[in-house]
Amino acid sequence: MPVHEPLEISEDNELDQDIIDINEALGLDLFEGDIKLDGMRNSIIGDQYRWPHTIPYVLEDTLEMNAKGLILKAFEQYRLKTCIDFKPWEGEPNYLSVFKGSGCWSSVGNRQIGRQELSIGANCDRIGTIEHEFLHALGFWHEQSRSDRDDYVTIMRDRIQSGKEGNFNKYSDKRSDFLNVPYDYTSVMHYSKTAFMNGTEPTIVTNIPAFIDVIGQRMDFSEYDIQKLSRLYNCKTGYFVHFNTSAGITQDRAILESRILYPKRGFQCLQFYYYNSGSESDQLNILVKEYSDTNLNGTLRLVETIQGAEEFSNVSINLLSEVEARSMPLKSRS
Ligand SMILES: [Zn+2]
Repeated sequence: MPVHEPLEISEDNELDQDIIDINEALGLDLFEGDIKLDGMRNSIIGDQYRWPHTIPYVLEDTLEMNAKGLILKAFEQYRLKTCIDFKPWEGEPNYLSVFKGSGCWSSVGNRQIGRQELSIGANCDRIGTIEHEFLHALGFWHEQSRSDRDDYVTIMRDRIQSGKEGNFNKYSDKRSDFLNVPYDYTSVMHYSKTAFMNGTEPTIVTNIPAFIDVIGQRMDFSEYDIQKLSRLYNCKTGYFVHFNTSAGITQDRAILESRILYPKRGFQCLQFYYYNSGSESDQLNILVKEYSDTNLNGTLRLVETIQGAEEFSNVSINLLSEVEARSMPLKSRS
């Protein structure tokens, strides 16, 4: 393992320990708990810190089996919800080396250093934590370091461990970009209320009290996390559509198109949720467009129609061209 630059970490913890707690218990002193700085404090602003849309990676042998599985699962979430994809490294100049280091941490953005490390250490093997660290690698700072954060949260200075106050700094607009997305209590990049506390009282109090136990969630990306990522990387496709039929006329329709998927294994699951609060006669049509060497424009094929509000649907899509099948579980709640 190469020599590390001085570590600085910002934290959240899994297993009901946020990253920050995990890293602190290890005595790490990373910037903001889980960010490794490479001598420079650069903002995510700047194209040189972007990765290509498909990021080369190596899952190092040090990783535990469970961590590897969850990292691949996190990649699936990125694939499904954004235009970011990951591929095993094949000699590209820059790549992410994911390994089991001490704690959970990453640098911010593509540092253009060839092998760039991202640590998924003990207790970091939780999907939200992994998504969080990869969001750092993709170029994101912590949500509460936004320059407008004081309108949304109050930092309780006297409850912060001495010497750790710097973890609650704000960045100017020159260092990080909101990407025109509102402040987000539900971001997977937000500190929890217990970050760097010196006692039992929260260090971050939300100005809207109901959100105090929401900040620091490590379940999955928030909708705004996805929006910001999609804007930073100019993703062309979305993953969410709201279509109001209450004032609509017959034959009105909305189309949500996924990006092109390349099932690499024998099968691939594509999961989405469908909620219909409109008419029983509303329907959801699931179509698949198949491409081949001789059919570059693709052929659209109707796979299934869901009428009204089904409790739960599981739709299997058998691809015609290859011996591959995709199943598309569809859940709708009424
Ligand atoms: Zn972090």
